[in-house]
Order: sequence, then structure tokens, then C-alpha cells
Amino acid sequence: MKNNVFCVLCFGALIITLMLSITSCNKSSARLTADMILINGNILADASEMGRFEAMAVKGDTILALGTNREIEKYQDKNTKVIDAGGKLVVPGFIDSHVHFLQGGISLSSVMLKDAKTKEEFISRIRDFAKTVKPGEWILEGNWDHQNWGAELPVREWIDQYTPDNPLFVSRSDGHMALANTAALKAAGVNRNVKDIEGGSIERSAGGELTGIFRDNAMALISSHIPDYSADQYDRGLEAAMKYVASNGVTSVDHMGTIADIGVFQRALKAGRLITRIYSTALIPDYKRIQEKMKETGQDDRWLKAGGAKIFADGSLGSHTAAFAEPYSDDPSTSGLLMYGEKNMLAQVLMADSAGLQVVVHAIGDRANHLVLNFYQEAIRKNGPRDRRFRIEHAQHLLPSDIPRFKELGVIASMQPWHLTDDGRWAEKSIGPERIKTTYCFRSLLHAGATLAFGSDWYVAPPVPLEGIQAAVTRQTLDGANTGGWVPAEKITVQEALIAYTINGAYASFDEHRKGTLEPGKLADFVILDRDIFSIPHETIKDTKVIMTVVGGKVVYNSE
Ligand SMILES: [Zn+2]
Repeated sequence: MKNNVFCVLCFGALIITLMLSITSCNKSSARLTADMILINGNILADASEMGRFEAMAVKGDTILALGTNREIEKYQDKNTKVIDAGGKLVVPGFIDSHVHFLQGGISLSSVMLKDAKTKEEFISRIRDFAKTVKPGEWILEGNWDHQNWGAELPVREWIDQYTPDNPLFVSRSDGHMALANTAALKAAGVNRNVKDIEGGSIERSAGGELTGIFRDNAMALISSHIPDYSADQYDRGLEAAMKYVASNGVTSVDHMGTIADIGVFQRALKAGRLITRIYSTALIPDYKRIQEKMKETGQDDRWLKAGGAKIFADGSLGSHTAAFAEPYSDDPSTSGLLMYGEKNMLAQVLMADSAGLQVVVHAIGDRANHLVLNFYQEAIRKNGPRDRRFRIEHAQHLLPSDIPRFKELGVIASMQPWHLTDDGRWAEKSIGPERIKTTYCFRSLLHAGATLAFGSDWYVAPPVPLEGIQAAVTRQTLDGANTGGWVPAEKITVQEALIAYTINGAYASFDEHRKGTLEPGKLADFVILDRDIFSIPHETIKDTKVIMTVVGGKVVYNSE
């Protein structure tokens, strides 16, 4: 009996051992099968480490392994999709840390004024576009730049005769001023008796007539009368935006927008239509609703997260509404404007910070940046330490003494290098030779230990990271006037720029555990480029073509 019992136990143990080995066999064979492998790549897995791999295996939306072709081919079976990178450079998907995503998508189908080079072209583009829209429909976006034709501001008389039946409110490319036609003034019930608005300005002719130009807060006089886009228009705008950025290698964006925008993203998420990962901010006065949205999206969703609370400290350089400590060099009557009084702005920062939100403030002028750093300092003192990752969006003009404070206070400088190719043409005229030395001061910020996260500010500027990298590295301006770079001391390297578009972008949205580098366990978001941006002349980086963009193991753009 004893023996028999022993044998039964033995047999039982044998069965259990066999079962265990079968399950572990199943487990290991499952682990060894990839849904996708990329071979023959020149994979830069981590821009800060600069190590390169030949191949990568992907399971679901996650990276399984990196190695040589031989090491990775072990993960292949008959169902594995194989991408042959043909020796091309593969980098982590670009993270664009500052976009206005829906406006960008919608502007793709609106009147295109951004590259209008003359007053005549500005007029004829509007004339031609007006023929394509129904009477009564608003003409919006546009994104014109009066610096293209010698800085004469447009007036409504230029276009009134072509747009009698269509209210028009087209923005300057920086979004800080816009031109209304007479039909728009009528629709908004605004006439020459309108009063000035705090934090904004209204352009008037010598005779006191409205020219049609409204700046910053005054823009709401018109924009509050524009009917909202339909849900369908938003959905199409989002789809156009996602496709467009995918073709430029962008796999994640930080969206600067409103609570309503988050609803558009949630709708797309529910329908499984997102192909770009979105971290969405909304405006601070809505902070309670941002908290609700944070709960709804969760902080672990791979596609959509709410979290940032944004306010504007000031306006823009091009509109002369960026707040400086000293007056503008070409207009001593103004030193810009603050969107809110100092007390009000501090209160908003403290409120959003104590609610546990990431505070994100737009600051362009050196005074605006100085004040925001003060407010952040006060928030840390008052609300105590935590991993809050304050951000300043643009951080465009800094007082030299403020540069080290970014590191000291743990403030992320969220900057858009392409803007300098644009502003560099005329910024010195506006603020003089001394202040331009700490304009877009990438090198000084890095030297002081600050974290730089790069983005585009699309729709304002093109959402093309390769153009942004070239801008940061060469600091050449659009007019070709600064071949050695505009304020060349502030140039940075290709590697530093790529870190700002990947690793630091992930950090800026609390996503470094799953994005920014290509490592086992992280999301399979990557881009194949047609050349190695580290070994070509810097002034040709923008000619680099994206061959393929992959988000979560799915090809979302293929140039072929
Ligand atoms: Zn912006």
C-alpha cells in the first residue's frame, strides 16, 4: 500500500510537472512570437544614449526586444509582419509638445494666407476662397503674416468688396490678432463706439474708424459671435490633423485647447479612431472640469490623457503684445500687455496647482516669463513639494538672471524652434540688439540644466519636427539672411534637439515610463527616416523624408 500510495503520488507529481512544463512551453512560445519585426534598421533607441540596434520585435502595441537581425528573427513566425528598414535610420516617434490640434486640422481646409507674400496675394487668396463658400458662412483661420509684405497691417477695406455676404475673421499666424471684415463687425454688433478691452487692443484709423484689427482679449468681441464648428467638422478636423502629423513622424502631441476639445478626442477614442496619442490641456478657469476629465480619461490611458491647466500670461512678439520689462525698440509707447493682472494670474496658478493639475503658462516676453517664474516659486512655497512639472510654453525672451531659475524651480521650457526662423527676420527691430541675445536661448537653458521640450505650435507653425530640429541646430532664418545662424551662440546639437522632441517630450506629459525611447516594455511608436540626420549637412535636415510612422505597432503612415 505504501508503495502504491508512493506511486500514485509520484504519478501525480509527474502529471503536475508535465502540465507545468506544457504551460511554461506555451508561455515561452507566446513570448517568442512577435506581431511585427523590423529588420535591417539603423535603430537609435534612445537619443540620450546614442546606442544603435539592427532589429526590433513588437507584440501588440509594445516593444518586445531589440537586437541584431539574428536575435530578433527568433521572434518571427508565419503571422509576423516583417518590415525591412533597408538600413535606414529609425528613431522614437516624435512628440510635439505644443499643438492646437483641432484648429490645425480644420485650418488645413480653410483659406491659406500663411505664405501670402504680398498685400495683393493676401487679397486674391481671400477673393478666390470666398467664391467656394456658401453665403453667410464665416471665413476663419487664414494665418496671415504682415511681416511678409513689409509689416503694413491689413484693413477690412482690402477685402470687403469680395466678401459682402461672408463674415470673415482671419487670424495672424501667431493667433494674437485677427482681421474682421465689415460683415463680421455687423454680425458681432461691433461699431466705432466699442470700448477698449483689458488685455487686448482695437486698431482704429486716424478718424476713429475700426480698421478690423483686434488683438488678444479684444478678439473675443468678434470671435464670441462665430458659430461653433459642428461635431462633424471637428471630427473631420481631428482626422485630418492626425493624418498630417503622422506623415511628419509625429506619434504624440500635447494639445493646447479647451474642455470641449477633450470631448472631441474622447469621441474618437471611443470609436477607435485615434492614431495620435494626445495629452490635452484646457484653460485654468475650467480646472474643476479638467479634474473630471482626468478621472474620465484616467492617467494611464495610452491614447488620451487630460491633465494640464493653461493660462496666457501675455500675447506675442509679432503683435507687440508680449510683455517686456522695457518698451519695444520700434514703439516706445508700449512694452506689451499682461492678459490678467498679476494678482489674478498668481491666484489662478495657485488654484490649479493646489488642485493637483500640471500648470502650463504661455509666456513670451521677458517680463511675462519673470512673473510666471515668481508665481511658480510662490506655488512651491505655499503648496509644498510634489512632482508637478510646471511648464512655460514658448519661454521666448528671458532676462539673463531668469535662465537658471528653470532648473532651480523644475520648470520645463516648452519651446518651438521653428518660430525663430520666422521671428529672427525682424525681432531685432522690435526689441533691439541686447534682448535678442537671450531669445530662444536653447544653449543657455541647457547649460543651466533646464529641461527643454520641443514642439511646433501648429497651426501657427508647421508640425514638422525635422524642420524644428534644423531650426534649433542652424538657427537660420526664413529670409536666408543669417546663414551662420541668428544669435549663433544659442545653437544646439542634433542629438540635443532630438532629445527635446522625444525623451523630454515624454517627461513633459508624465509619460517617460512608456514613451520617448525604444525599449522592451515601452510603446512601439517609431519613425523610419530616409537619411541619417546625424551625418548630413545641418541645412539639409528639413529635406529628410519620413518613410514610415508606426504608432502602437500599427503603421499609420507609409510614404509608398
Ligand atoms: Zn500655442
